[in-house]
Amino acid sequence: MGIPVLFVYPDFVAQERTGRPGTYDVETGGWYAEGLGAMSASLRAAGHHPSLMHLTVPPDRDEFTALLRQHNPALVAFTVRSSAFPYCLEYTRWVKEGSGAYVIWGGYHPTLAPEECLEVPGVDSICVGEGDRAIVDLADALSGSKQPVHIESLWFNTASGPVRNPVRPMVENLDELPIPDFELFDRRRLIATRTGVATAMLSRGCPFRCGYCSNHRQRAVYPNSSRYARCRSPRNSIEYLRRLREWFPEVRELRFLDNVFGLGRMWLEEFSELYRREIGLPFSCNQRPDLVTRESLALLARTGCRMIYMGIESGDEEVRRLILGRRISDERLKEVFRACREMGIATVAYNMVGLPGEDRKKALATVKMNAVCRPASVVVSVFSPYPGTDLYDLSVKKGYAPRHMDYRARTFLDQPNFSRQEVALVYTYFRLLVGLYRLAGAIPWLRRILVLLLDTLTISVFFRLTWLVTFGERGASAVRRFREGIRRYIPWLYRLLRAVKMAVARGGISAIRK
Ligand code: SF4
Repeated sequence: MGIPVLFVYPDFVAQERTGRPGTYDVETGGWYAEGLGAMSASLRAAGHHPSLMHLTVPPDRDEFTALLRQHNPALVAFTVRSSAFPYCLEYTRWVKEGSGAYVIWGGYHPTLAPEECLEVPGVDSICVGEGDRAIVDLADALSGSKQPVHIESLWFNTASGPVRNPVRPMVENLDELPIPDFELFDRRRLIATRTGVATAMLSRGCPFRCGYCSNHRQRAVYPNSSRYARCRSPRNSIEYLRRLREWFPEVRELRFLDNVFGLGRMWLEEFSELYRREIGLPFSCNQRPDLVTRESLALLARTGCRMIYMGIESGDEEVRRLILGRRISDERLKEVFRACREMGIATVAYNMVGLPGEDRKKALATVKMNAVCRPASVVVSVFSPYPGTDLYDLSVKKGYAPRHMDYRARTFLDQPNFSRQEVALVYTYFRLLVGLYRLAGAIPWLRRILVLLLDTLTISVFFRLTWLVTFGERGASAVRRFREGIRRYIPWLYRLLRAVKMAVARGGISAIRK
């Protein structure tokens, strides 16, 4: 007999306000999570009854308890990101005080810091690695009368102490997994679907090793780790997208969330043909600039790709190579963004500030690289040393960060050449600085002198004005709320503004019609 399983998904981002410790700016969530959809499908196939508590803002205790009663689960499964750790801790206590449900933690944080998670009061078990099959085994065991203890990939808190079972081999052929249970999510609560976008993920893992990413540590937990980067077959991928479309018939555009979309030329060629014939929607995806070629861009554009998300991460070549483990020259980076524009593909650039070994000049190089590459959108974050990453080890070893930290902080490292206030300042005004450098670059005969002037002003004046951070944070938070409001309540206007922005980035208003 199946049991009711409730996934608890804290899907919001909280950041401590500068100068006001203990108070947080909360960015409302509303994002699809492939892992939950996948586990839900496996549970359903095994006869269990999964449901979701999708927390897009932090609930108070009464709200949480009311939702818990409504679902009345036998098993509560938390998906735990490092930044949501303090919330999951509190919600677990509420579950235990308000019900007799069994509690399991899974996701990135328990995989990378299992000992810390197993010590949390109220946690009965944690899942190390992917949970598609482990959660079914646990639900099966709980539906019988036996206390589960020996299930691969799960660690248990038992009366006689912790039991740490080995991690089972990962599923190598993703076609063997069911298509995710999209129905688990309430479409009205998903941000992307409000604007006609559906998110999808056809692969798992990644073959690369970037210093700030925990990917290689996640891979290392499996006995068959050499098969970590896997993709559904082109035919199975189309079946996935067909089912996604049945769930969301009004979809206008797809956003592929794969770490690097379409790894492998043969896969992409076969997928491209099927996709154009059977799906035919415009889409956006993630790429690595060092892998992109004019040929791969042309194939992506032919398939329907309208936008690519790529990491610049740092504008300093040495930081990219030695700290981030990303070997790509400045010239090649600029060339890739130029090629995207020429092929009519808009770009979004990811960036980080506050990296170990970074200083004001190096952070400014990132600003300037964005101004030269001219992506349609710039995304910037403060470097967070997540457990399991090479840069976490480096930051702790150098004494820049403590071993345990609260990932809701605004900044993380205490470095001699780049203070927390300076990091917060450049993070807060990053887009404004990029805009100023772009303006300076737009006047060819004055470019050199204007850039020199901006460099001097930024390094010797701007970085002293750390009091601007609080002011800028409030402005940024108001802008974000305004944008969220438009996306939520006037989605057609959001779509129109976005289409215009992308068209301009792709080289002309005529591109809107594409
Ligand atoms: S940052 Fe992206 S490309 Fe680099 S290892 Fe992580 S998932 Fe792979």
